Amino acid sequence: MQTMPALFLGHGSPTNALEDNHYTQAWRRFGAALPRPRVLLVVSAHWFIGATAVTAMARPRTIHDFYGFPPELFAFDYPAPGLPELAEEVAEVAKPHWVGADRDQWGLDHGTWSVLTHLFPEADVPVVQLSINASKPLDYHLDLAAKLDPLRRRGVMIVASGNVVHNLRRVQWDRPDTGADWARRFDDAVAGQMADSPADILKSVEHPDFAMAVPTPDHFIPLLYIAGLAAASGADARALLRGYSMGALSMTCYGIWPDFQPQEAS
Ligand code: ZN
Repeated sequence: MQTMPALFLGHGSPTNALEDNHYTQAWRRFGAALPRPRVLLVVSAHWFIGATAVTAMARPRTIHDFYGFPPELFAFDYPAPGLPELAEEVAEVAKPHWVGADRDQWGLDHGTWSVLTHLFPEADVPVVQLSINASKPLDYHLDLAAKLDPLRRRGVMIVASGNVVHNLRRVQWDRPDTGADWARRFDDAVAGQMADSPADILKSVEHPDFAMAVPTPDHFIPLLYIAGLAAASGADARALLRGYSMGALSMTCYGIWPDFQPQEAS
C-alpha cells in the first residue's frame, strides 16, 4: 500500500464548514487530489484534554463545540463511521507512550468536521480522532508523531487541524483576509522552519512574536504532529496554502505529500 500523505490544515472559523471561500475551495482541491485512505486519524485543536486517547466508537457523534454561531452550524452532521480497531494499532506503535481508547465520550469536533466536509464530502472514509494531551510538554507531541509514522504505510492518513497563529482576543471581524504584522512575521518564521528543518520546529517558541501568535498551545500543537512526521520520515513538509483571516489567524496549510504541486492550490 502506498504511503499516505499527512496534512496540517489551518481551520479558522467553524463557519468554514458551510462556506464557499478561498480556503474551502483549496481544501476541496486537496480532497480531489488525495488518495483514498483506509482511515483518517485526525489531531484536532479542539480535543485538548489531560490524556492521550483515540476515539474508539463505531459511530462517532458530530459535536458542536462552540456557541454564538448560526443554527445551520448546530444542525451540521458529518456521519463518517469510526474504526474501533485502530485504537489498538495506535496504542501499539505509540509505545512506550500510553494511548487510551475512548468508547463513549468524544466524537468528531468542529476542528475535524469543518475541514473533512470539504476534503471528503461524502463522509464515507472512517474517522478516528487523537486527543492532544494538554499535560505534556511540546516535545512529547513531536515524539509521539514520529511513532505514528509507520501507520502512514498502513493506509492511515494523518490530518492535523489547528492554526499556526490563533489569537482570538486580537480578532478583527471586519478584516476577513488580512494578517496583522506580528501574525505575518510569526507565520513566515514557521514556514521557514518547516521548509528548512521541521525537526527543529520548537525553535519557533523563541520567536519574539510567539506569545502573541500562540497565547494558548491548543491550535499550535497540531502543527507539531506534521513536523514530527516529516522529521521521522526525512520528508519535506511543504506549505500547500498561505493566508490569514481576521488579522489574528493564519490559515496556512502544510503537507507531507510529494505528489502534490502547491501551485495546484493557488
Ligand atoms: Zn479552532
